[in-house]
This record gives sequence, structure tokens and C-alpha cells, in this order.
Amino acid sequence: TPTLAFRGVAKVFPTGTRALEDVSIDVRAGEFVSVVGPSGCGKSTLLRLAAGLDGATEGEVDVRASTTSFVFQEATLLEWRTARRNVELVGELAGVAAAERRRRAAEALELVGLAGFEDQHPRSLSGGMRMRVSIARALVAEPQLALFDEPFGALDEITRLKMQTELQRLFQLKGFAAMFITHSISEAVYLSSRVLVMSGRPGRIVDDIEVPWSYPRS
Ligand code: ADP
Ligand code: ADP
Repeated sequence: TPTLAFRGVAKVFPTGTRALEDVSIDVRAGEFVSVVGPSGCGKSTLLRLAAGLDGATEGEVDVRASTTSFVFQEATLLEWRTARRNVELVGELAGVAAAERRRRAAEALELVGLAGFEDQHPRSLSGGMRMRVSIARALVAEPQLALFDEPFGALDEITRLKMQTELQRLFQLKGFAAMFITHSISEAVYLSSRVLVMSGRPGRIVDDIEVPWSYPRS
């Protein structure tokens, strides 16, 4: 059974905007799927439905993951907390003991290359570093499904290339299923084993492409 499944999903907003039409998607365990398409075709709406932040008007959204994490374009960090305490938040909410929380947060920050920056506040970090904190916070929960909404869209190109490499490495290491929204075809092809192409208003899936040279899972 897929980790994430959409079956004939349509979304109509109360304003009358039809954002999605007849969308069917499977994301299998450990699979990295990108969704590309032009601005306004419904990519964010699709991700919000997958995240359970909004409901489908027609069809079904089925999530078979005990833990789901999200990463949005703006690294939505708590400015008054240090990097480490931003990452610890997940454990605090889940009632994990302080020492264990601290250990997991340090490990997650090290994984994203932020060892030594644990005690800095977000405002003193660069855009790329803030995104790294956001990714560490998403991965510290050991999600089975990770949802990304254009996480690197606001970064400069060099930082974006570094972050793509970083995310690919974390994916190899952690083995979560991922749905990654982007309007960059090159980013989608680099990151994922499957690229879903969305188009139109309302948005539909118009192509489903296997990327044949994707990285073998170790
Ligand atoms: P994308 O992420 O591909 O840019 P969106 O999912 O943000 O597209 O938007 C798809 C369409 O739905 C757009 O026409 C947008 O204006 C509309 N839309 C998105 N969210 C809402 C909302 N909460 N209420 C009304 N219309 C919305
Ligand atoms: P993105 O480009 O990532 O889709 P947007 O700027 O389109 O971001 O949307 C930001 C937020 O505003 C989202 O939560 C979306 O649902 C909401 N939104 C987008 N379009 C509309 C709209 N026409 N009416 C109401 N809310 C909207």
C-alpha cells in the first residue's frame, strides 16, 4: 500500500476557484516524488491536502504514515528560540525527555551541517542555514512521509544547489517517502525518482515520468 494516495481528488475553494481536478497520485514507501508545474496550477493546494491542512472537495486523500513532516518555503522558525530549541520543539510536543530531546536535536543539526551553530538564534543565521534548521526540525521526528513546498525557492542559486545535494543525501540516509513541490524541472529531475507534471486551471496531473538515472538506494 502506498504511503500517500490521492484518488480522483478535486478541490474547490469557497471563493469558487477550482484548484484541482481528478488528481490521482501514489507515493510509495521510500519513494521521492516531485510535482512540477507553473504558478497557480494548484501545487501548494495539493501539498496542503496531503498534509491534512485542508480537505478535498471530491475524492480521497489517504495517508499511511505514522509521522508526517512539512517543510515550507519560508523556514518558519521561532525567532526567540535557538536553533537547537527550534529542533527540540517537536520532542517537547511529543513529551520526549529533555536529555533525549537534546541529543536528537544535536544529531539532526549535525546531519544538516550545523554543528557548532546550535545556540544561535535564527536571525543570526543565513537563509540557507535557516532552511537547514527547518529541515533538521522536520527530520528529527523520523517521518515516514516528508512534504516539501518549494523549500529552496527563496535561496540564492549556490545555496540552492548545496541544499539539493544535502537533501538527496538525507533522503538516502533516512529513507522517508517524499513529495516535493517545485516549479523547477531541473530540481525535480535531480532530486526525485518520479516527476509528476501538473498543468492547467484547475490543475491536473498531465504526465508521470520515471527518472531512469535516479540514485540507487543504498
Ligand atoms: P501553486 O502552488 O501551483 O502556485 P496554489 O495551490 O497556490 O497554486 O493555487 C491554485 C489556485 O487556487 C490559484 O488560483 C489560487 O489563487 C487558488 N487558491 C489557493 N488557495 C486558496 C484559498 N485558500 N482560497 C481561494 N483560492 C485559493
Ligand atoms: P504559493 O506560491 O506557495 O502557492 P501563495 O502566495 O500562492 O503561495 O499562497 C500563500 C497562501 O495564501 C496559501 O496558504 C494559499 O492557500 C493562500 N491563497 C493563495 N491564493 C489565495 C486566494 N486567491 N484566496 C485566498 N487565499 C489564497
